[in-house]
Amino acid sequence: MSSPSRPAPPGDAPDDAPQPSDQRPATLDACRRCDLWRHATHGVPGDGPTPAPVMVVGEQPGNQEDLAGKAFVGPAGRLLDEAFEKAGLSRESVFLTNAVKHFKWELRGKRRLHKTPAQREIEACGYWLEDEFERVAPRVVVALGATALKAVLGVKATALRKVLGQPIEHEGRTVIPTYHPSYALRVPDPAAREAAFDEIVAALKLAAKFSGKAARKGAGKTVVKRSAAARSAPESAPKPRPKSKPKSKPKPAAEP
Ligand code: SF4
Repeated sequence: MSSPSRPAPPGDAPDDAPQPSDQRPATLDACRRCDLWRHATHGVPGDGPTPAPVMVVGEQPGNQEDLAGKAFVGPAGRLLDEAFEKAGLSRESVFLTNAVKHFKWELRGKRRLHKTPAQREIEACGYWLEDEFERVAPRVVVALGATALKAVLGVKATALRKVLGQPIEHEGRTVIPTYHPSYALRVPDPAAREAAFDEIVAALKLAAKFSGKAARKGAGKTVVKRSAAARSAPESAPKPRPKSKPKSKPKPAAEP
C-alpha cells in the first residue's frame, strides 16, 4: 500500500473540473477517478463480512481513519459503536463503509478538518460503492448523513430531515436514512445531541428488524475479516456502472 507520509493540502478544484472517471482501477491505491487520492494517506475500504444483511454507509474517512487506513476508528466510529450496542446490533455482523474512500480535508492551523465531498467525487467513488453492494448483497442499507444517502440512492440532492428514519425501497434494498455520528458529536445543545444519537440508534434497530434475525447480536456466524493487504487489493476490479442505467424512483418501504 503506497502511503505518502505528508500528503499536501487539497486545492479547491471547481465542481466541473475534468477527472478521469472512466478509469476502471483494480485497487483503491490505483484509483485516480477523482483528485482526492493526492491528499490522503490511505484509501479506506469498507470492512466487515461478505455477504452481510446490513450495510452501514458513512460519508468519507476522517482524520484518524485516513491515518489508520481503516473505517470508523475515530470519534464518530466510537459513537457508532455505542449506537450499535444500544440497538442490540453486532458491529461484526455489519459491513461498514463510506460513500467516498479518500479523506477530503482542509488545513486550519495545524489541523486537517473534514471537507464535504463534491458531487463529482461522490459519483466517481460510486464505482467502489457499487462493487461493495455486489459483494455484500445487503438486504438493508443504513445511510449516515446526506452525502451517504445521495450516494446510496444515486441522486444529486436529498432532504435528509424529511426522510429521517423512514425506510425507502430502492433497487431491491431497504434504505434507512439517519444522521451521521459526527453530526451528533458536534451539535452544541446536549438535548439535540442526545436526540440525534437516539435517531441513529432507532435507525439501527429498524435495520435489524428489516434484515431479520441473521443480523441480530450473536446470530452472525460468518464473520470474514479482510486483511490489510486484501483491503487495499480487492479480488477483482469492480464492474463499471452502466452509464445510462435508469434509477428507480425511491419509494417508502412497507413494515416487514
Ligand atoms: S475518492 Fe474514490 S474515486 Fe476518488 S480517488 Fe479515492 S477511491 Fe478513487
